[in-house]
Amino acid sequence: MAYLHAVREFAASLLARVPTVCGLCQDTACGGKLCPYCYRAVMHSMTSGAPRCAVCRLELDPYGGCADCLQRTPAFDRVIAAFDYAAPGDLLIHRLKMQLQFTSAGMLAGLLADALRSSQPVVPEQMVLVPVPASRAALRRRGFNPAAEVAYRLARQLKRPCRPGLVLRTREGVKQAQLGRSARMHSVRSLYACPERLDGVHIAVVDDVLTTGSTLHGMAQACKAAGAATVWGLVLARTPYPVGGPEALRAAGQRGQLHSL
Ligand SMILES: [Zn+2]
Ligand SMILES: [Zn+2]
Repeated sequence: MAYLHAVREFAASLLARVPTVCGLCQDTACGGKLCPYCYRAVMHSMTSGAPRCAVCRLELDPYGGCADCLQRTPAFDRVIAAFDYAAPGDLLIHRLKMQLQFTSAGMLAGLLADALRSSQPVVPEQMVLVPVPASRAALRRRGFNPAAEVAYRLARQLKRPCRPGLVLRTREGVKQAQLGRSARMHSVRSLYACPERLDGVHIAVVDDVLTTGSTLHGMAQACKAAGAATVWGLVLARTPYPVGGPEALRAAGQRGQLHSL
């Protein structure tokens, strides 16, 4: 067993050195990852030390607390996000979801794994990964569930189980990107359910983008109702405030307008 593990580690270290093309600038990179320049550019805002909400990772405005968590106490415990849903990282999400580049899911899972390793507080070691289930319409449109593709690869990298069947959609619901904040909250009520008890289990819900947090809130409500000990959100990208801060957010009326994927 130890021999097999050593062989796998050696093979992984060799693959990490194989020359590949950067998924963002198409320049030379290694092992399917971003080149060092693009890596820094994508991860910079999340690692710059700017004040963020301790729960949902929204970058805080100069005027006060987190607009999202103040309006609603989240059912989830914490969010870990790899980068902000802003240039240039938003292009990676766009390519994954709109250009159907699900082969980039491994590289994106790697960015999230890096964010997890450097996160404080530390995510429970015994967590079980659960992707946000896609609607039937989204599955028909894309042919795959981006959240699940990232979750499978992240689970492999973290050596944790991935159990997509732990949380199911109870109905089709409405496309979230078309809804405002309160409408999103209403639409996810009872949208998810757990077919089995999760007593004492630490759940990590995996999704591509977190905008208002309403999807994660709905998933966490279902998991906690089934007995989950904690529910973490592991997301590739966190949608920041629009330019102009919370005033612009209030004027816009709908945070859903920001994320149209
Ligand atoms: Zn690059
Ligand atoms: Zn918050």
